[in-house]
Amino acid sequence: MDNNIITIEDVRKLLEFKPEEALVTSFYLNVDPRHVPASKFTTLTRNLLREKQQSLEKEDWPQGLLDSVREDFKKIENFVVNHFELKGRVRGLVIIADAAHDFFQVYRIAQPVKSRVVVDPNPYIRPLVAILDEYHRLMLVLLDQREARLLEVYMGEILEHKAYYSDVRGKVKEGGWYGLEERRIERSIKNKVIQHYQRVADAVLEHFRVGHFEYLFIGMRAEDYSLFLPLLHSYLQPRVKGRLDIGPKDHINTIIEAALKAEREIEEEEENKILENLVETLNRGGLAIKGIDNVLRSIPLGACQVLVVDDDYHMPGYVCKDCAYLALEEGNCAFCGKEALPVEDVIEEAMEEVLLQRGEIKHIATDNPRLEEISHIGAFLRYKI
Ligand SMILES: [Zn+2]
Repeated sequence: MDNNIITIEDVRKLLEFKPEEALVTSFYLNVDPRHVPASKFTTLTRNLLREKQQSLEKEDWPQGLLDSVREDFKKIENFVVNHFELKGRVRGLVIIADAAHDFFQVYRIAQPVKSRVVVDPNPYIRPLVAILDEYHRLMLVLLDQREARLLEVYMGEILEHKAYYSDVRGKVKEGGWYGLEERRIERSIKNKVIQHYQRVADAVLEHFRVGHFEYLFIGMRAEDYSLFLPLLHSYLQPRVKGRLDIGPKDHINTIIEAALKAEREIEEEEENKILENLVETLNRGGLAIKGIDNVLRSIPLGACQVLVVDDDYHMPGYVCKDCAYLALEEGNCAFCGKEALPVEDVIEEAMEEVLLQRGEIKHIATDNPRLEEISHIGAFLRYKI
C-alpha cells in the first residue's frame, strides 16, 4: 500500500525524538480538496505560521530556540509552496520539524486534519494517534457466482488485488421444470460455483497470512452468503464482521463508502463497549480511574495501561521533560525539582507518555453521552495507585 500512510511505528519513532532544550514545530494542514482549494494552500500556510510567530514572540523563550523555530517555519513554507503536490487520496499534510536538531519529516495522510501549528518541547502527535486509533485494516471480498474482487482498505486508501473468475458461463437458472439433462447441467454449474467460492476463500486466507487485516467484510447476495461463509478458514471466522449489500460490479466509490460506513459502525460499537467496561470497573472499585487529576497522577507511576479520552478534550498544562511529571498548575517537578515547562495540551503529553510506556490509547468520539460519566478522561490501570 502507499508508503504515505502513517503507521504506529512512525508515531513511535516520533515519540523517541525527544531533543534536549528544543522547540519542535508540528505543522498540520488540511488539504482536503473537498473543503480547501489547492490555490489556497500557500496563503493558509503563511497565515498559520505568521499568527504563530506573533504569539511566540509574546512568550518568554530563549532567542536561540526562537531562531530555530523561525528556521522551521521557513522550511515548512518553502515545502508547501515549492514541493507539495496534491496526489492520490491525500487529505492531510503533517510536517514535524526542528532545525536545531536537523529534523524535518513530512507525512501525507488520507485523512483531513485540523489546520494548526503547535510549537512545543516535543512533536505534537495527538491527531496522528487519533487517526491510527480510528482506522482498521479491512479486507473486502466482493463476489457473485462469476467473479470476485479482493480489496484492502486502510485509512480511506484502497488496494485492489487480483480478481478471480469462475467457469460458469450461462446464468444459473432459478426455479422451473427441468429435464434430466438440465438437472445434470445445473449440478455441474453448482459445483463450479462452489469451486469458485473455495478458490476465493483460499485466496483470502493467503492475504490474511501476509497482510493481517483486522476485519473482513463480504459483499454478496444474502442467499449466497450462507454458502460461502462456511468455506472460510477457522482463522478467518472471527474476523468476519458481516455481509454488505454491494457486489463486484459496483463502482469503486460505492464500495469505499460502504466499507467506511461499516467500519465506523464497528468503531462506535467498540467505543461503547470500552466506556461501559470502564464505568463498570470504576463502580466496583476495580483497576480504573477517571478525571484529569487522577490520570495525570497515574502516568509518572507507569500505571496507565489504557488511556480512554474524549477526542476533543484539551487542556493546557506543565510537563517535566526529565521524568514525565504532568500538572495543570505551574510549578516545579514534584520528582526532580526541575522547572516544569508549559505545554499547549497536557492531554497530548499524557498520551505520549502512555505510548512510551507501551500502553494503549482509546479515543472516544466526543458526542458519546457516557463520556460525562468519566469526566472526559479515564484509564484502566496496571496496578492500584
Ligand atoms: Zn522531573
